[in-house]
Amino acid sequence: MDYVELLKRARDQLPESVFEKERFEIPKVRGHIEGNKTVIVNFQQIAGVLRRPVDHLLKYVLKELATPGDIKKSGLLVLGSKIPASRINEKIRRYAHDFVLCPDCGKPDTEISKETGGLSYLKCSACGAKHPVKSKI
Ligand SMILES: [Zn+2]
Repeated sequence: MDYVELLKRARDQLPESVFEKERFEIPKVRGHIEGNKTVIVNFQQIAGVLRRPVDHLLKYVLKELATPGDIKKSGLLVLGSKIPASRINEKIRRYAHDFVLCPDCGKPDTEISKETGGLSYLKCSACGAKHPVKSKI
């Protein structure tokens, strides 16, 4: 039996609930359309769950959605056009994939560190993996 097969066999013996618990849930946006704008009420909380600066997440999402937008004093994110929540969720998922989740173990226990030469790395505290990450959005 080779290694891959061993892994497969070990995995088959684990109850499904183990995987359920391990999977990191990326929060979904909550909000509504207001005239020609989209208001998101929990954007800061999402950045908090992802443990990334809200400005970093915002910059990415605005660029990907090609829309202007900013965070008001009240904490609401107001986007300058009508955008369905599903599209915003998709961008946040992609952000998490690129900047939060460890490519090796899939856990969100990571941080971005800047090192000499302007390179940034995604470092995982769960498995110790270190991967280069885009430093500019
Ligand atoms: Zn990892």
